[in-house]
Amino acid sequence: MTLERYREKRKFEKTPEPPPADAKPRSGPLAFCVQRHHATRLHYDLRLEVGGALKSWAVPKGPTLDPGEKRLAMMVEDHPLEYGGFEGVIPKGNYGAGSVMLWDRGTYELLGQGTAEEQLARGDFKFRLTGHKLAGEFAIVRMKRSAKGNEWLLLKKKDAHAAPGWDAEGLAVR
Ligand code: MN
Repeated sequence: MTLERYREKRKFEKTPEPPPADAKPRSGPLAFCVQRHHATRLHYDLRLEVGGALKSWAVPKGPTLDPGEKRLAMMVEDHPLEYGGFEGVIPKGNYGAGSVMLWDRGTYELLGQGTAEEQLARGDFKFRLTGHKLAGEFAIVRMKRSAKGNEWLLLKKKDAHAAPGWDAEGLAVR
């Protein structure tokens, strides 16, 4: 896990975002968070702790509990663990300028075969979230015909937490 790209994209004297620390592998429950990021385009950032940093995807339509939906998720640079507590306004002229709201946070369990790193390398990462809004089993799968190479699909598995019609913006429209 490297936070070099996170560092390169930001001027820490100009943004309230946490400065990059080194990746800090730790024991105990793994963290996840989702930030609602009203940048040039509104999107939701899904972040999952792997190897002491946060693997991150920008999800334009946001995550959903609807197992019938496939949500496009663009992998972006790893973020430091501290980012999981960040909310605020990134000033104009900075990377990602706009408001960041902590939309959900909690813990996750890795499911599937192999380590987190192996599943990411394979492009098929399976996990179970325990959050306030999001819960249950999900998978995030790399698109084989991705033009940009960073396109994944976020999928909700059918389980007790599945909710057809559920939408992040319309919260629990059924
Ligand atoms: Mn973002």
